[in-house]
Amino acid sequence: MAADIILSGMRPSGKLHLGNYFGALVNWVRLQNEARCHFMVADWHALTSEYENTQGIENNVWDMVVDWLAAGLDPEKCLIFRQSWVPQHAELHLILSMITPLSWLERVPTYKEQLAELKNRDLSNYGFLGYPLLQSADIMVYRANKVPVGEDQLAHLELTREVARRFNHFYGNVFPEPQSILSRSPRVPGTDRRKMSKSYGNAILLSDTQEQVVATIKKMYTDPVKIRLNDPGHPEGCVVFATHELFTPEVADIEVRCKSGALGCSACKNRLGETLNAALDPIRAKRAEWVNRWDDVKAIVHDGSVKAEKIASETMQKVRDAIHLVPAGKLK
Ligand code: SF4
Repeated sequence: MAADIILSGMRPSGKLHLGNYFGALVNWVRLQNEARCHFMVADWHALTSEYENTQGIENNVWDMVVDWLAAGLDPEKCLIFRQSWVPQHAELHLILSMITPLSWLERVPTYKEQLAELKNRDLSNYGFLGYPLLQSADIMVYRANKVPVGEDQLAHLELTREVARRFNHFYGNVFPEPQSILSRSPRVPGTDRRKMSKSYGNAILLSDTQEQVVATIKKMYTDPVKIRLNDPGHPEGCVVFATHELFTPEVADIEVRCKSGALGCSACKNRLGETLNAALDPIRAKRAEWVNRWDDVKAIVHDGSVKAEKIASETMQKVRDAIHLVPAGKLK
């Protein structure tokens, strides 16, 4: 049986945090051993909402790639590439935009949600409305049949299936209808209980030093009614406990001792510092190696993009043939 073809990507947001790690990277590192994986730095997607503020994109691209490598992505096992270095994404996006009804894009749930959320930006541009279609092109240009997604991205993948179906109906069978690999990632709360995000200032970065991690844990939200050391605590809702669940082997014992009042918050936080730092140490060590190998990092993304472009070109040849667009030099 042919191996699955997988496409996934991240907007370049710079150094990654624990939410990014558990939300995507852990799965990617596993999937690279099981399928033909294409992992994309989605730098064109960064323009859909940040088009006025593009100076930071370049550094963000490389900070993110170094974190991917440090977390265990292996360029021998997967393709790591940059979207804007593979122009076939844009060509397929344009062709798909010809056959996609506007109403399909307007009804994507995240479109309205983000318009409401990001009120301080003018998002009345086509790029923002059309970014789920660019995502469809990202997937389809590799004829990927599997896409790892969270629940919030299922509507985007359904759009991709509909667009693939419509293309195949008009022009013949070129594209598979990609299926989701639903990754149920553990919830990683930020220090203040909100979703972990660098923009909220509540994140722990994979690249934070041991001292920074300890200082951030000190600020974590805990049970507000556990004031004195011996007060019985409520681990549910405590960010320290939620993070112990991700990293600390004796989490069940911590739960019992918190509830009985045998464990104080200060000791509990100290223990989290130990287990979290122990988990991050290998990533930090690999990161330090990659940071000293900039030429190799750039070569990985360059070579990955060349390979990605070869695959994407083959798809675009099929697309042009299907829609009867004769390429230059092939006129009889
Ligand atoms: S003892 Fe630990 S788990 Fe319990 S409330 Fe304090 S920090 Fe949270």
